[in-house]
Amino acid sequence: MKKIICLFIIILIAIAPMAVFADSSDQYSAYDFLNDFITECPQRVSGSEGETLAAEYIQNKFIEMGYQTEWQEFSFTTDSGTINSQNVVARIFAQNSLGQIIIGAHYDSVNVGNGANDNGSGVAVLLDIAQKIADLSLNYDVVLVAFGAEEEGFYGSSHFVNNMSMTERQSTLLMINIDSVAVGDNLYFFGEDKATALNDSLVELANSFGYSQKAYAKPLSKDLNIIYATTDIPYYHTGYASDNLVFRIAGIPTEFVFSGTFEKYDSYTQTADVDFWNMHTANDTLLSLNSFGVKAKENMQIVSDTLFNFLTNDDFKDIIINARADMTNDIFWQTWPAYVIYGVLLLGFSIFGFLYLRKLRKLDLLTVNQKNEKKVFESASVEDIYDLK
Ligand SMILES: [Zn+2]
Repeated sequence: MKKIICLFIIILIAIAPMAVFADSSDQYSAYDFLNDFITECPQRVSGSEGETLAAEYIQNKFIEMGYQTEWQEFSFTTDSGTINSQNVVARIFAQNSLGQIIIGAHYDSVNVGNGANDNGSGVAVLLDIAQKIADLSLNYDVVLVAFGAEEEGFYGSSHFVNNMSMTERQSTLLMINIDSVAVGDNLYFFGEDKATALNDSLVELANSFGYSQKAYAKPLSKDLNIIYATTDIPYYHTGYASDNLVFRIAGIPTEFVFSGTFEKYDSYTQTADVDFWNMHTANDTLLSLNSFGVKAKENMQIVSDTLFNFLTNDDFKDIIINARADMTNDIFWQTWPAYVIYGVLLLGFSIFGFLYLRKLRKLDLLTVNQKNEKKVFESASVEDIYDLK
């Protein structure tokens, strides 16, 4: 009997740590950052006190990890007056740097909900990566940036880019933007509006960790947005609808990571399940994110694991260095949707011209000469009939 009790106790001791371990959220370290960030900084509207407190929170986290930080203030005007905001920057320098990589996430939010997905999730992943690389010797100088005032029109990222010298822009190998990476059916990596080695290798890496959530290359030319978002900032689709656009316009190769679904051809949403749509709604809370389940934690951790491996694994060195060669300008106007639009416009003008001329003809507004020149016939006249031999 004693032996059985002893054995029982031994088994209990053996499985106890496993049980604790299985319950631990350490596996999802990015989520732990999110949980704390949203609890401490639930309101982060551009220019508000909450936004400044969030910037201080992020700066303190960087400092705790051992980074030198920079507090970049900027202001801009909107209909409601002057807004003051700030970026928080942390840098890590390589011994033999191959160039600079910028990783960014905006920390402000809209005035409804708590911005748990948009973009607490991005900030959390940024902090998770920051912690992992803080003491490493990398091949690149890495700049970690928490951008302010993205929701108002990419003001933080614009300020950051405007402060980069031409040399710095040219020596920047890559900018990676993380925005809304928790609540979404899938993860997407978007680089250029065409397949590139950089984009494909990130997707492949993201799917190599064995998580059940899957990553995809952004469906190229899907969810085209041919409307200009603002007068200064043209963007063609969802893959450019965040801070990465500003860097891309400045000639820096970019990657944008976000979660969502492109199940319908023409529209982008977070999930097929309407209950979890959260973009800029009161539904963007930690509570809603939690009820999306382990998928939200996985999405975030995949992004963190992917970018960490990407920065530290020498296999990706050449791909990163060569990313610049794959940048393509005006890709939209060279792809098939553009030709469809050209065709429709041409057909439209032709039909309109024909109908307009016919209308003038009917109203008898054309002179005899105009009628003859334009060959607008009511019926063939004698001189228009040729003798065929
Ligand atoms: Zn966002």
